[in-house]
Amino acid sequence: MTTLRRLLVLTLLIPPALAAADEPTRSPRPNLKIRGVYGGIPSQIFERGETLDDYAINAVWIGSGGATAEVVGGLKAKAPGVKVFAEFNTMHDAEYLADHPDAAPVGPDGLRSPAPDGWQGICPTHAEHRRERMAAFRKTLADAPVDGIWLDYHHAHASWEQAEPNLPDTCFCPRCLEAFAKATGTPLGEGPASAIAARLLDEHRRAWVDWRCGVFTDWVREFRAIVDEVRPGALLGTFHCPWTADERDGALRDKLAIDLKAQSKYLDVFSIMPYHARFGHADDPAWIARQTARLGEYLGVRGEPGERLKIWPIVQLADWGEAVRAGDVADILDHGTRPPATGVMIFHWSGVGGDRAKVEAMGRAYRGYR
Ligand SMILES: [Zn+2]
Repeated sequence: MTTLRRLLVLTLLIPPALAAADEPTRSPRPNLKIRGVYGGIPSQIFERGETLDDYAINAVWIGSGGATAEVVGGLKAKAPGVKVFAEFNTMHDAEYLADHPDAAPVGPDGLRSPAPDGWQGICPTHAEHRRERMAAFRKTLADAPVDGIWLDYHHAHASWEQAEPNLPDTCFCPRCLEAFAKATGTPLGEGPASAIAARLLDEHRRAWVDWRCGVFTDWVREFRAIVDEVRPGALLGTFHCPWTADERDGALRDKLAIDLKAQSKYLDVFSIMPYHARFGHADDPAWIARQTARLGEYLGVRGEPGERLKIWPIVQLADWGEAVRAGDVADILDHGTRPPATGVMIFHWSGVGGDRAKVEAMGRAYRGYR
């Protein structure tokens, strides 16, 4: 056996909690309660005979499709005390349109809006789609002993998860136009769909944007009611776009129809998504902390004990858009765990779990926060 191979074998035999001669100075974050991983069960850790606690992981997010009683119960048995949360897709459902073409978002020309960068959304006033999503949400909560459920893709038809977003104006389908006119008393006027859309985006813009935001917020109100009925005490969270209300000419509300303040009435946890590398800040991980701090100021959340609203950022460790170096993991998590954050999770296990250097760096950081 060569020296190198002997060293490798020895390294593999020693549990990481003991092997970490390079364990950094502890940096306790007393208000940080959640150290999570998103996007898959960390099976590689179990396969090595280690525990989630070896990495100080105390929460796991899995897709609601896989969040069965067996899977969630099995994970809780393997990792006592770990919180298991489901991720729930509300609006990103291309398959639904195959049988329900009338659920496709419509653009200002009155025609079906092409999926920006292939990202397909759904018209938010399609009643059957909403009923179907609410039923699926209820079933996830009823079937599996999850500690909470996180809304995902809860925004208008748009491809924003990239450095330069693609934000078409929607939805001008006859159903949305009628609902808007009825709810706000705004006269749509005469003329073709394109003329009506032009007026909505100009003279009626404020009422139109407020109404669209209200539609998406009302979905959140209904999700909250289901949580309280089916699994009271479970947390309702949302994964959301990290832009401030003012950035990109107010696109968070005007384009994505996300009104975080209005939604805060129904939510427990805001999981801002500052994917620094993907969104053009690969060399500026401090952007993560800046966006999180701005969210806290906007919502009035300081990250102190006893606050009803919580901010738990999801930070990018997986390569997407730009690569993320293992050497940057400590810095990324440092910025992702500063107040007002009281929890954090990494995006995403399926892209990180096989990268031992990143997993070890995450574990070192997480252990240091305890
Ligand atoms: Zn519509």
